[in-house]
Amino acid sequence: MINASMMNLGQQRSVIREIFEYAKKRGAEIGSENVLDFSIGNPSVPAPDSVNDTIRRLLNETDSVLLHGYTSAQGDANVRKAMADYSNKTYGITTTADDYYMTVGAAASLVITMKAIVLPEDEIITFAPFFPEYRVFAEGCGAKLVPVMSIEGTLQADTVAMEEAINEHTKAILINSPNNPSGVVLSSETLIKIADILKRKSDEYGHPIYLIADEPYRELVYDDEQVPCILNYYDNSFVCYSFSKSLSLPGERIGYILVSPKMQDNREVYAAVCGAGRVLGYVCAPALFQFVAAECIGQTADISIYKRNRDLLVNSLTEYGFDCVRPDGAFYLFMKTPEADASAFCEKAKKFELLLVPADSFGCPGYVRIAYCVQTEQIERALPAFKALAKEYGLC
Ligand code: PLP
Repeated sequence: MINASMMNLGQQRSVIREIFEYAKKRGAEIGSENVLDFSIGNPSVPAPDSVNDTIRRLLNETDSVLLHGYTSAQGDANVRKAMADYSNKTYGITTTADDYYMTVGAAASLVITMKAIVLPEDEIITFAPFFPEYRVFAEGCGAKLVPVMSIEGTLQADTVAMEEAINEHTKAILINSPNNPSGVVLSSETLIKIADILKRKSDEYGHPIYLIADEPYRELVYDDEQVPCILNYYDNSFVCYSFSKSLSLPGERIGYILVSPKMQDNREVYAAVCGAGRVLGYVCAPALFQFVAAECIGQTADISIYKRNRDLLVNSLTEYGFDCVRPDGAFYLFMKTPEADASAFCEKAKKFELLLVPADSFGCPGYVRIAYCVQTEQIERALPAFKALAKEYGLC
């Protein structure tokens, strides 16, 4: 006998993967340049040159046994110090190397954090739209994921609905800013409200309700937008960070968990993170990329390309009559579908070789996600198809 729920998870493909696979198949039929694939969030901008330069230098200058050997389970001490020094300088916080646990990306950061805190019957609240893997991660750790709809129009977190959803089983609130799939950045006003409610509710129920910030898109913000650091708002906070998007290194699997030094029982919670890392086999994140991250932290891939894509897409789709949520960050555009059934809309879009993702699995029916981490010329080629689609619905 095997674990049937694991088998089911392994057999199901996410909607995004389904469409991505369809794109490959269709590309073989009609030529990949004719497929307008906006399905997947794979960074399209290369890593900054400094990443490859650093890798070369490390290979030439560092003892090979050290470079490719095991580090401490929680990550190399100097690497974690580099994470702390950068965060302290940038966000005005006071962390030390011992507050950081190096991981294989944000996905691992999230599961380790959840595993460290979840007890049977616990619930984790998140705001819809949300990254669909949250359900898999939460349920895999034995928690129930409780989605709360964001405020219509702005898609800021609905803190009134959040407060109503909190009960004695609530272990954590999971936020994601900039958001996948909407690109929305949570304002400091929203974070202040969340923090006030969590302080009050933690007192009422006699245990901390944690705030988990999933931040793989932290640096991907446009114009003057800033992503506030949640450690400055709420003490019982975790940051689940990744270099996948900021440095365009999703395949290298490197990120970290930051446990706030002001968290209640910080040392015990940090030990639980280390324990969860052990149980899940997530010890000693890839050594070479720990060292690369330490050297390159604070740099980003050329995000001006994503901004150019965003502006072109939002301005054009709005002109054609579509209703879009203007993204301040990440590389996704969230668009209302002109018919209630987003899957039916995506099927119509396919007639124009436009591949969009219905947002039902993001907890938000009636929307699609358009991943604009593509070459700008793909967007230019796609605009006539978007216009023709708008015409089918009488939008223009
Ligand atoms: N969280 C969100 C919101 C994401 O969009 C992703 C990846 O796309 C992840 C977590 C996982 O990131 P990583 O590749 O660093 O594991």
